[in-house]
Amino acid sequence: MTFGGKKELVLKQRTEILHALCSSGSAELLERILDILLAHGELIWEEYQDIQVPVLPEAQGVGLSFSGCCSNLEEKKKYQGTSTQILLTQRPSLVSQLQGCIDGALKALVISGHFSSADCDDVRLPIHTPSQQARRFLDHVRSKGELAAKVVLQFIQQKQESGSQLNEDTVTPPKELFKYQKKLSSSVSAQSCFLSTYGGTSHMSLDDIYTEGQLELSHECVDVHGPLGVEDIVGTAGTMNKEADTVLVSGDAGSGKSTLLQRLHLLWARGAALQDFLLIFPFSCRRLNSEHRELSVQELLFQHCCWPDREQEEIFQFILDHPHLILFTFDGLDELKQSFSDEHRLCCPTQRAPVHILLFNLIQGSLMKGVRKVVTSRPEAVGPVLKKHLRKEAFLKGFSPSGIDYFVRKHHRDPTVAAKVLESLQTNTALLGLCHSPVLCWIVSQCYKELLGCGEGSPQTITDVYLMILQHFFQHQSSQSTLGIGWLQENLETVLHLGQLAFEGIATSCYIFTDRDLETCGVTEKDICMGFLIQSKDMSSTHSQRYEFLHVTLQCFFSGLYIVLSNDTDRSTIPKLFEPKGMREADLRSTCFSACLPSTYQQEQVLEGESTAVETLNLQITATFVSGLLSQRHQSLWIHCCPSAVIEKRAKQVVRCLSKGMQKHFKSIPQPVEGEKKSMHAMPGFVWLIKCIYEMQESRIAKDAMSKLEVDHLKLTYCKIGPVECTALAYVLQHLKNPVGLQLDNNSVGDVGVEQLLPCMHICNSLYLRNNNITDEGIRKLIAKGVQCDNFQKIALFNNQLTDACTQHFSHLLKTKQDFLSIRLGNNNITAEGAKQLAEGLKFNHSLQFLGLWGNEIGDAGAEALASALESSKSLVWLSLVGNGVGSAGACALANIIKNSTSLEELWLTENCITRTGVECLIQALKHNTHVKSIWLRNNYLSLEEVEEMAQRESRLVF
Ligand code: ADP
Repeated sequence: MTFGGKKELVLKQRTEILHALCSSGSAELLERILDILLAHGELIWEEYQDIQVPVLPEAQGVGLSFSGCCSNLEEKKKYQGTSTQILLTQRPSLVSQLQGCIDGALKALVISGHFSSADCDDVRLPIHTPSQQARRFLDHVRSKGELAAKVVLQFIQQKQESGSQLNEDTVTPPKELFKYQKKLSSSVSAQSCFLSTYGGTSHMSLDDIYTEGQLELSHECVDVHGPLGVEDIVGTAGTMNKEADTVLVSGDAGSGKSTLLQRLHLLWARGAALQDFLLIFPFSCRRLNSEHRELSVQELLFQHCCWPDREQEEIFQFILDHPHLILFTFDGLDELKQSFSDEHRLCCPTQRAPVHILLFNLIQGSLMKGVRKVVTSRPEAVGPVLKKHLRKEAFLKGFSPSGIDYFVRKHHRDPTVAAKVLESLQTNTALLGLCHSPVLCWIVSQCYKELLGCGEGSPQTITDVYLMILQHFFQHQSSQSTLGIGWLQENLETVLHLGQLAFEGIATSCYIFTDRDLETCGVTEKDICMGFLIQSKDMSSTHSQRYEFLHVTLQCFFSGLYIVLSNDTDRSTIPKLFEPKGMREADLRSTCFSACLPSTYQQEQVLEGESTAVETLNLQITATFVSGLLSQRHQSLWIHCCPSAVIEKRAKQVVRCLSKGMQKHFKSIPQPVEGEKKSMHAMPGFVWLIKCIYEMQESRIAKDAMSKLEVDHLKLTYCKIGPVECTALAYVLQHLKNPVGLQLDNNSVGDVGVEQLLPCMHICNSLYLRNNNITDEGIRKLIAKGVQCDNFQKIALFNNQLTDACTQHFSHLLKTKQDFLSIRLGNNNITAEGAKQLAEGLKFNHSLQFLGLWGNEIGDAGAEALASALESSKSLVWLSLVGNGVGSAGACALANIIKNSTSLEELWLTENCITRTGVECLIQALKHNTHVKSIWLRNNYLSLEEVEEMAQRESRLVF
């Protein structure tokens, strides 16, 4: 039947249809038809709103009035491909899918901040049927905008993926399960609501202090932008392998991994997040190390997390039957004594096995397939074998600059104190850089009195910060109001006892200590009271009292103190500590550290076999502290604590090790291919050595290290370089003899990091900072310095957060530096306004050869401005305006550059909206130009025939 025929039929049978629609006494049928019409675009939104079926007595029904049967084109275009449009086109099926899980969907919107409780009440009005609730819900979502629509689609997708029925009512857990859930959540809540501050003596509520860290997916995940929230950890965003169950959250020591899990647990226990999971089982790998029995999965869950009072079998069966309702978390996989391996397979949940085997099989999914697992680890400890089994990986990158601000304000209730602390951080950017690490931010905030009293001597290095906390804790326990200069000597015994415990622990991957361990190292009750040790939290109460350091980095610090101050360490301790190869091998422990270890530790080591990557990491952190502690500026601290000859000898050893370590790196640089630049890609350990040199704060050491480095290009991509690393890099690299290209792509430099790099800008001829979270503010500072640097000629900033506000600075750079060669600003948010600003600078510049603006939004107006500025350029060789919404007007303007230019070789205009008219202009211009080699025009608004014809006319056009 034709459309005309159908319309006629509807008109003819109008009476019957109306009767059929209304006779049931419910509006359901009519509403369903409206859903379908909306979905097909036969009814536009405004019309739908006009004819909405009145369900509330006071609502005014307007009757049916289809004002037009064709869709509004403009409206359609606006929403094309958006989540809002998907909500519309899928409306009929969404209405039925949402019934029964409206509560979950509402919660998702409340958490994401799109719905208020009034919105929820409105949707939930008891007068609505479930399907009407679903429709009302969808209508509300539409009014909240695109982001809200996205949240709904994600929610539904998650539901589908987790295999859970959208209709929550279909799962009916046994009654006992709810009792168990209550017990588990109160136990989880009790474990999660506080952070320790001074040993067992002081606590801080997580709610009072929790600050969002920067959680990001890998750079390859282009589908997700912006920071992730706690819920996103188990959400679909960034999924690489749908078949895998394990999500990895990786981050450096102190980046907040445990705290993030703690937050996640607490939110679940309170019913504020992750409510798709009926049960969450949290594990600490550190604690699992002490489990020497063989266990079944059931025993692992119930004994290590929470014991069901009744019906254990029934509850466990429910867990097995509904894996998608269960979440396991494993904190600190790197601290497990055994490295991950997938060799020993186990499939039966009742079979007993050593805990690490259980854990590895859970992660792989050979045990408890479908249960979602969240694992945290330091990234270095994650090998390819584990990566194979990951659903996705998120990186925790510490606090953002605003996070630091927020944390300090939360930490200090008194706003004047908070303001003072923040002010002093602003004046010491090296310290500000350190505060991106949450653990250091906490220390700095905790020690604010010392910090504010420091003046000139305010901390610069990580060692300085830890020395500050050492002093602070002693002060906290001391009856005197201030500690005298001999504070270290007064507390030397404690330092040595705790140092030995820490040192032996690091050497044996031991982070939890028994009474016996404490006794062996002479740790007394008084030492414990200082607060550096805390009682180990354990959900199972079977263990006797155990202790751990407040944070693993504090254990490394004490270990460093011990190496510096103890009479008992071997002469080879320091060389071994700095020898990266030795650190990965068991011989370190047998030849160096274990010499001073009690025999029980040694036996354990022999039994354990291979060492894990975390040992290397902890030894590296320890070595960094040893460098800092032995620097000249701290030597007065050791007077009366250790003979100065010994300290001097040890300091010399460190300097020698650092110099040797650097040499090794330089030797690994391959000779350049003829005609190419000599390039060095940082090997593992390079950044660490640089950080050790920085800790020493002796420029002659930095100078000496750099005197032997001869490269043209230094590549440090994907090296996890944040602000802290930038400080150290700049400190060392500023002593390079010859200018280099410094490539720092794909790191987390950020604005603070940019500021830290300024001291070495003068030796950079090119600076590559692609993908580094840099904003206009960072650029402002960078260019202010850059214009003063003679060597500085190229900059690449692809994929940062730049807007039009940064272009005035580039304009200034172009006007000021007549030897600048290349500016690449691809994939930022620069519009026509920004392009106009750039053009202002370009008009006065005679040197720029490369200009890249790929993936911005400069449009025709922007292209015209650039074209007019570059019309008579004698230097420009390469110009890219790929994907910038440039149409024919822009192309015609650009043709003017081609007409006049004697230098331009390539023009990239792929993925724009240029039509035949624009290309004609380019063809005409090319007639006057023999220099241009190619103009790229793929994916523009051209038909196949046009492409064919024009390609024949001008072979330099690439379609
Ligand atoms: P990791 O597990 O990565 O080593 P932690 O979670 O133990 O790091 O963090 C170390 C310390 O840093 C915590 O004890 C806490 O004081 C502080 N911290 C970490 N993350 C946060 C956060 N998100 N909000 C507030 N403080 C935090």
